[in-house]
Amino acid sequence: MNAHCEFCPICGRSNEPGSNDACVHFVGLVADGDLMWGQFDGAPGERFKAAWLALQKVWLEVSAMPGARLKEMHKLCRIVGIDPRWLEAEESALHALEGMGEFQKGPYLETDGMASGSGYSLYHQDPGILASLSLRLEQFASRLSREQLSCG
Ligand SMILES: [Zn+2]
Repeated sequence: MNAHCEFCPICGRSNEPGSNDACVHFVGLVADGDLMWGQFDGAPGERFKAAWLALQKVWLEVSAMPGARLKEMHKLCRIVGIDPRWLEAEESALHALEGMGEFQKGPYLETDGMASGSGYSLYHQDPGILASLSLRLEQFASRLSREQLSCG
């Protein structure tokens, strides 16, 4: 994606995500349905992605078990603060992310040339949002695993 200038919907700063210049509210770029994390702050994004994949794996195993106690798993979702609908739909990390918090989208962009595509930036008021979401996902995955073991 070409360098472009946009204003943070939260603090109003003039950001240039393509040039690794953005405020703390910038989460990542969404291009053609894929989330590309802010390169200057990749660690929280990578952690979220890993946590999400791990949770999906556990979820697929658990929900495929005969006599899976879906109701209790949904209760567990609410306890850790995750909407159970995302599990059922087997959503992508991006959809889950957009559904989980109050994210704001930057202006819609279209680019030409080699890296042609369309997309937008994701912003969130809480700079620690990815870290706290990752933590919730990790907790949920580990509790699911334990539930699975105790199912017998
Ligand atoms: Zn900002």
